[in-house]
Amino acid sequence: MQTLHASKCGLSTAQLPSYILDVIDALTKAGFEAYIVGGGVRDLMLGLNPKDFDAVTNATPAQVKEVFGRRCRIIGRRFELAHVYSGRELVEVATFRAPPKKAVTSASGMILRDNNWGTIEQDFARRDFSINAMYYQPRKGIVLDFCHAIDDIKNKTLRLLGDPTLRFEEDPVRMLRTLRFAAKLNFSIAPDILEVFTPEMTQLLRDISPHRLYDESQKLFTMGHLNRVLPMLIDFDIWRQLFADIDPKISTFIERAAINTDQRIQIGKTINPAFFYAVLLWKPFLERCEFYLNKGMVAAEARAQAGLDVLKRQATRTIIPRFAETFIREVWEMQTRLLSPKPQQIQALSTHARFRAGFDFLLLREKSGDHSTQGMGTWWDAYQLMSTDEKERAISQYNRQRAKSRRKAHTDDVLEPKSVSVDIEPLVQETAPRSRRERERKDRSRPERPVQMVTSGGSEIRADHPILKRKRVKRDLNQVVFGPTQ
Ligand code: ATP
Ligand code: MG
Repeated sequence: MQTLHASKCGLSTAQLPSYILDVIDALTKAGFEAYIVGGGVRDLMLGLNPKDFDAVTNATPAQVKEVFGRRCRIIGRRFELAHVYSGRELVEVATFRAPPKKAVTSASGMILRDNNWGTIEQDFARRDFSINAMYYQPRKGIVLDFCHAIDDIKNKTLRLLGDPTLRFEEDPVRMLRTLRFAAKLNFSIAPDILEVFTPEMTQLLRDISPHRLYDESQKLFTMGHLNRVLPMLIDFDIWRQLFADIDPKISTFIERAAINTDQRIQIGKTINPAFFYAVLLWKPFLERCEFYLNKGMVAAEARAQAGLDVLKRQATRTIIPRFAETFIREVWEMQTRLLSPKPQQIQALSTHARFRAGFDFLLLREKSGDHSTQGMGTWWDAYQLMSTDEKERAISQYNRQRAKSRRKAHTDDVLEPKSVSVDIEPLVQETAPRSRRERERKDRSRPERPVQMVTSGGSEIRADHPILKRKRVKRDLNQVVFGPTQ
């Protein structure tokens, strides 16, 4: 182990937000060891802006709770952690961990429970990459480096601690982390990792819960280097593990969306990670629409059913939360609305909550060479910048052209809405609409008329039928004695 001077590593307390210093100080004052570890230290050393700071201590989660009281919450079962609220920020405070006991690993060596407290040396060995395992004590101005991680920082190399095969078997998600950090930091991957990073090894990702894989996919989408990591996902055969039904091919549309996502992150704009899922799944969605149309389903039903099918299939790999699924289906449905809006709906559409995402998606398709957008991406782009008068003129011009082209030909069945009312209907319904046949069957079984009018044995009940003359007797239940036969 070597102790480095923080200042020589380019680190100073001035770079640290007060919330992390407060946590370190409070733990130190209570008599515990406390360090900043992980991505925060790594990114500062590389001159990058850390996403967050993680703290590590020899205090157990219960002791951390004692120090911070109501500001602390203990979370996690498999991996117990303390969440400390410092000002408006949340700091993850982990306890030094020892190697897990045999009883809590699965048959394939995967760690199922990991709450065995230990020393700092043991904690170091449990971390994934050398560059993620530097312990920074800002008040002492030192960095504890157990494995010459500083050299890996200088040489821009990603090196796993310990035997790569074992480390991947213990936690297959480390394969995703390898690609994420290699892309994010533009580091090369150490040869001993490359050697074992085989398609067979990536099969282990099948054992990871689709919830965790969704979280990891979000990190890949939002790290700011999505465009760089996509080809790596294909090369290392991770793509097939994450996206079962999506061709492992980066189309112009996907590439443009990835570049766009990275640019937005670079300039500090927000992104909705579900948007990229909408892009990735667009082609499978269209293919599925086609499938239902060929079966004779009407376009709106085909789209609704196709959306549900595609998302259901994707959920076998990454479980997209319900709100994100709804967002994706709404973006897809917006494509239909934006492609061929009713003139009287245009203004309302442009203020719809899903307009922005739907429009961005449409324009991306168009700029990627998708001619089926019929130039409507550019049309909406211009429309938004117009004055009220210009908008009116644009709408009537659009209306004239629409009438002309309607006369000329029928446009694409999938993306052409057949009947849209003036009020914008909800873009998606939570469940698929019933098919026409199903509706007809239900309707047939439902009685349409009051009982008296129903024909019985071919003849109608006449108005003077004795059954209609029978009076309902109101019975006072208090007077009724319930015997065994009643
Ligand atoms: P990011 O910039 O994404 O936050 P990070 O390195 O801080 O990167 P976190 O997921 O925040 O990543 O984890 C914090 C630290 O915890 C890591 O730096 C690493 O030391 C350790 N760690 C996280 N996940 C694993 C894992 N799957 N296996 C081993 N160590 C891990
Ligand atoms: Mg982190």
